[in-house]
Amino acid sequence: MTYKDFLTSCFEELEKLQDNLNEIYDINSFTKWDYDQASGIITLSKSDKILNFRYYQVGTYSTELKTWKWSWDNENTTKKVAVDAEIIKGFGITNKYENLINGEFDSYEEIGWELSSICINLIGGIGVYRPFYDHLKIHIVLTELMDNDLADTEKNKYVDCENHNRRRRAFICQHLKEGSKNGFEESFETAEDMEFEFEDDDFVAWCNECEKIRIEEDSLAGKCWEQGKFKIVCEKCYFKIKESNA
Ligand SMILES: [Zn+2]
Ligand SMILES: [Zn+2]
Repeated sequence: MTYKDFLTSCFEELEKLQDNLNEIYDINSFTKWDYDQASGIITLSKSDKILNFRYYQVGTYSTELKTWKWSWDNENTTKKVAVDAEIIKGFGITNKYENLINGEFDSYEEIGWELSSICINLIGGIGVYRPFYDHLKIHIVLTELMDNDLADTEKNKYVDCENHNRRRRAFICQHLKEGSKNGFEESFETAEDMEFEFEDDDFVAWCNECEKIRIEEDSLAGKCWEQGKFKIVCEKCYFKIKESNA
């Protein structure tokens, strides 16, 4: 199939999806948007309503430079929300579709919608949201509407660290510091960037003193948690402390 034919069919699909999106959610009536690259959730809000969607980012069009940049080629886009280069680029290479192969290239404004329609065809999605920031038009594919409480819970699993940007949260007792050498107790074996086995899992560590209380009380909650004055640090900081206490 020629690129043009492929694009035409993808674009027709996208137009239907956009009509749906407008009809169901009145998506363009929202006055504020805020995306969280760590959790992959975008929050749209207006005075009387908040909607949360899971999303991925296709890329950005710069009205200043008149260039398109794929999210997989953008170091400011986290892996969590960038499109899978293997799928898009791989498909481009197989079919010799140049727009899917080059990370950044000169183009016209409509390109963002075109490439978004192709991503939806190859990866999936329920429609496009296209906010802009400064001179960048950001092309976002919404994949799923989320319950607002669940979205808050998921977003709260990440923290902003002044040294490591936004990361998964972790908990440590007040006695643990880099090089404190006072133990590093955990309730399960951990490793940086690991996937948790259960949804409720968190990184939690405490010192030898807190461990004594935990054993006495037979619980991490209650007295141990209170006296340990557990605080939140980012995942990266957590593993720096863990390594330095080994
Ligand atoms: Zn402690
Ligand atoms: Zn940190």
